Amino acid sequence: MAQHFLLTSAARTLTLASVARMSDEEAERVFIRLRWADNDGEAFCPHCGCPTVYMARRPNGAPRWRCKACRKDFSVTSGTLFAFHKMPLRSYLMAVAIFMNEVKGKSMLALSRDLGTQYKIAFVLAHKIREALAAEVRQTAIGGEGKRAEVDGGYFGGYVKPANRRENRVDRRLRQNQTGKRKVVVVIRERNGGTLPGVFRTEADALSFIRRNVPASTEMYADEAGSWNALHAGYTLHRINHQEAYSLPGGIYTNNAESFFSRMRRAEIGHHHHVAGPYLLRFAQEAAWREDHRREANGSQVDRVVALAMRNKPSVDFCGYWQRSRTA
Ligand SMILES: [Zn+2]
Repeated sequence: MAQHFLLTSAARTLTLASVARMSDEEAERVFIRLRWADNDGEAFCPHCGCPTVYMARRPNGAPRWRCKACRKDFSVTSGTLFAFHKMPLRSYLMAVAIFMNEVKGKSMLALSRDLGTQYKIAFVLAHKIREALAAEVRQTAIGGEGKRAEVDGGYFGGYVKPANRRENRVDRRLRQNQTGKRKVVVVIRERNGGTLPGVFRTEADALSFIRRNVPASTEMYADEAGSWNALHAGYTLHRINHQEAYSLPGGIYTNNAESFFSRMRRAEIGHHHHVAGPYLLRFAQEAAWREDHRREANGSQVDRVVALAMRNKPSVDFCGYWQRSRTA
């Protein structure tokens, strides 16, 4: 039998040691190559688009360009997700490499130890990386003529701790005993295609999200949950009752959607412990990206994520995150 791709040397194209050994200039060149990839790696002005720019380094040697046309200055991260960066670029490359080398997720406390930074810095950095992943995941096109897609839901967050004494314990399945923070992640996963998650209060709330993102010509697969009955109107929908079987002949299963939840659940249990509130969607999008790119070499994953970060605007949610009185 052929060796699994992830066990081959082709899957390991970047080592942390090689990133750590990079000089400032080398790390800089990586960012320049990825930011201006569509301009042969040549810098141009992000303010006015003028290609005539010249290097005007900061007194500390950090790279900075000046535009001949509008006279404005910019750095390699100006106007990107990593704008206003405080650490050397090498540390950002290191953070992306550490983040992508994990398979389920990365504990932000562990990331702060790896990078030797405060927890706050690692927290914001990890969320900016997730933001880059999310930008790609949101664009995922699903289904169409001759395509098959699976849909499934999984509940996350809103943990209610059982009371110490048995006589004080309540039935945590009842709505009045829950916190209201528990949400369902609904995923649409095309077979041999992309993965698109969303976060909702109930599975039934996800129906319009599914209809909006999946063309009617797509063959759909779902489990026995009553919430999906409504999809019979509008789609060819195959059902699998998991109490009877996990897979039936003719490709009737939702195993691809289950794989996504398996990865996400392990990220919750193994790294994040509590996933709820506004970040749940980010974690779901991270899991979707990891699923869709799981068979790529780690070096190309890192390149791809840095390129995504360079294409995205400064983070609305995480710029100056700790300087605010209210969280994102
Ligand atoms: Zn300019």
